Amino acid sequence: MENSKFDFLAQELDSLKAQGLYNAIRVLESAQGPWVSINGRRMLNLCANNYLGLITNEKIKESAKNAIDEFGVGAGAVRTIAGTLTLHEELEKKLALFKGAEDVILLQSGILANIATIPLVVGENDLIFSDELNHASIVDGCRLSKASIIRFRHLDMRDLNNKLEDYKDFSGRKLIVTDGVFSMDGDIALLPDIVEIANKYGAMTMVDDAHGEGVLGDHGRGILSHFHLEGKVDIDVGTLSKAFGVIGGYVAGTKVLIDYMRQRARPFLFSTPLSPADASALIAVTDLLKEDDSLVKKLWDNGNYIKSKFKTAGFNTGHSQTPITPVIIGDEKTTKEFSALLFEVGVFAQGIVAPTVPKGTARIRVMVSAAHSKEDIDFGVEKFIEVGKRLGVI
Ligand SMILES: *Cc1c(COP(=O)(O)O)cnc(C)c1O
Repeated sequence: MENSKFDFLAQELDSLKAQGLYNAIRVLESAQGPWVSINGRRMLNLCANNYLGLITNEKIKESAKNAIDEFGVGAGAVRTIAGTLTLHEELEKKLALFKGAEDVILLQSGILANIATIPLVVGENDLIFSDELNHASIVDGCRLSKASIIRFRHLDMRDLNNKLEDYKDFSGRKLIVTDGVFSMDGDIALLPDIVEIANKYGAMTMVDDAHGEGVLGDHGRGILSHFHLEGKVDIDVGTLSKAFGVIGGYVAGTKVLIDYMRQRARPFLFSTPLSPADASALIAVTDLLKEDDSLVKKLWDNGNYIKSKFKTAGFNTGHSQTPITPVIIGDEKTTKEFSALLFEVGVFAQGIVAPTVPKGTARIRVMVSAAHSKEDIDFGVEKFIEVGKRLGVI
């Protein structure tokens, strides 16, 4: 039967294709790791968030398997009815200790952690000051809150200060929210300045540490540890799906905030929590990070190694302060071609174009992990140089 109700979507799809913005989704036929199998070929993987290589760590897999044997495969209800297992509580306690926070609440993902939190602390008559490059999940949380959103220029503390000054007599609540590490450039929020400005104007502070978790700070404790700001940022949101390698999100903060979230955060109340295998794997990850920072060190070592190799070869790697390494090409079409040619020679590294990054700054975002060897990185850089020369990028 012809159904014309979705003609408007079909037209949208055609338009995306015409602009080269339609995503052909790559499918991995193997576990996520430094090398993966795609279309039957072994490829060097330079675009996953598996920073520490924990996805295939034997100890962590073992912990997930044991939890399945003991607790089965699902939680069976939302947390407030019958879905809270000892595993969830143990993970929350361990994360709170690891982060140096009073308390932690677990959500099902990073995006849900943002969506759960922001509408609880600001509403219709309040203001949000948001870095213009904040992640889409922060933006969605802000929109859901119905507060007025005031965007400040990326990392521009003078602009943030001026905007708060403009509203210094405003009687509602104010929230300053920022990514910790910005995922497309690898630069870091100026959190000490944000905290100072917030205190001056009586604003709450919130950071989304998705790319800082397991990467920044002592043993990968994140951005608050990096800046020695434990207890000084009101809301610390994170994901358990990047460096932690599993799935889930959390919010770390004061007892009052977390207690209130357990009563009112909608994804906590109305959606089933992480499975026993997920929660147990995450307990093992937290234990591992607490004991051993060698993977975090290896990640930074690899990040610095690949950056210096790219720079020597003449690539523009922007101003990253973290292992995230953008290879900025500029033109959208060349970037797509670059990624396709890399794929042909055995390197999986996706191009990132507008609107994810500003127009004219298209790039290949290179993500190394602690699981890559120097030989893996050498192979990848060699292929980048080959393709870069062929396309006249270097
Ligand atoms: C990846 C990311 C998220 C989403 O995390 P998920 O756990 O995958 O939902 C949220 N915020 C930022 C800044 C991210 O980079």
